Amino acid sequence: MALLDDFYPAGDEQILVRELTGRSPPPLGIPLQVGCIVANVGTLAFVDAAVQRGSAVTHKSLTVTGEVKQPGIVRAPLGAAMIECLALAGGALAKDAVFILGGPMMGRVIADEEALRQEVVTKTSGGLIVLPRGCHLHLNAVQTADSMRRRAAAACIQCRTCSDLCPRMLIGHPFETHKVMRAFGSGAELGSEAGKLAHLCCECGACEHYACPMQLSPRRINQAVKAALRAANTAYDGPRDVREEQGAWRALRKIPVQRLAARLGIARYMSLATPDLGEAAPAAVRIPLRQHIGAPAEALVRPGDRVRAGQCIGEIPEKGLGARIHASVDGTVTAVDSAVTVKAG
Ligand code: SF4
Ligand code: SF4
Repeated sequence: MALLDDFYPAGDEQILVRELTGRSPPPLGIPLQVGCIVANVGTLAFVDAAVQRGSAVTHKSLTVTGEVKQPGIVRAPLGAAMIECLALAGGALAKDAVFILGGPMMGRVIADEEALRQEVVTKTSGGLIVLPRGCHLHLNAVQTADSMRRRAAAACIQCRTCSDLCPRMLIGHPFETHKVMRAFGSGAELGSEAGKLAHLCCECGACEHYACPMQLSPRRINQAVKAALRAANTAYDGPRDVREEQGAWRALRKIPVQRLAARLGIARYMSLATPDLGEAAPAAVRIPLRQHIGAPAEALVRPGDRVRAGQCIGEIPEKGLGARIHASVDGTVTAVDSAVTVKAG
């Protein structure tokens, strides 16, 4: 057993491997290349339940926190509306709140309560954070690509703090995100070697939420550049070696979680005393046929069919790579499209 320092992003699998073994997986590589397998504890618990008892994944536990009356842990069947999880936490304290699905650094920002009504709990759901409209995380998430480009061109001082604090650079990857900023700011990201470096970004957000003194958005810019490079079929073709000398300052450049939370304006939500708020019991669930990497599952049920919790309702397509989908409640199928809607009862 090993105790990790309290820093961000200690949970990133490549950083975890480096911390525990002193070995860095190569750029764009996986931990297996340095003799490691990293598995999430929750995933292992689900695997154990499947192997030992044949149980399918039907429910997830979520942390509901931020500007809510009662922060805590909610258990919900897959396909339950996120808004019902919010209700179990007493609802949002502000009428015009914004929401983050996932964690504060890498989660997806949802614009308002109306948009949240369209969101459901899936196998990958882990958290729902309620924040005041106009907070740093909200403003950063709604910047347009055009605005990010103009700000990168006008305000990036090429101080390279984003590169110097980048966790991937600090484990030896040949990645200097300030060069992507320079290329993006001048509109040269698709035709330059610097632009291709964006492929090496794991989107942890340490650069834009902590490092950059100008409050620019290297993470979102890397995301946008990666998407554009993929659309143009342009792969990373740079070096794949690990440069040990880049890690010389790593121990001194770990980002303390409490300081990061203070910088993000979320320190007051960091209490770990999160009570169990019980289980959501929705009248209906809408279970997406794609909750995983790979091809969507193919529905095995039709409107009118009766299903039982745990029953397989979506199969992996022939010759496809994907995952099965199971009913999360007993009930009657009322619709099948990109999701299976089941009326509970
Ligand atoms: S830290 Fe900010 S200002 Fe400095 S190089 Fe990076 S993006 Fe530019
Ligand atoms: S998000 Fe920023 S800090 Fe994280 S890997 Fe990408 S460039 Fe580095």
